[in-house]
Amino acid sequence: MGTIVCQKCDATISHFEDEKVTKLYAQCPGCHDKNKQTKR
Ligand SMILES: [Zn+2]
Repeated sequence: MGTIVCQKCDATISHFEDEKVTKLYAQCPGCHDKNKQTKR
């Protein structure tokens, strides 16, 4: 099973079907919003 985790807060965002254990890093909506707000 694959897991998508947030690279900022390490929260599990989503799971997806996979033959092997995979970990993908992305940004959860919360951190994505924060990033947008902080960025000028
Ligand atoms: Zn996050």
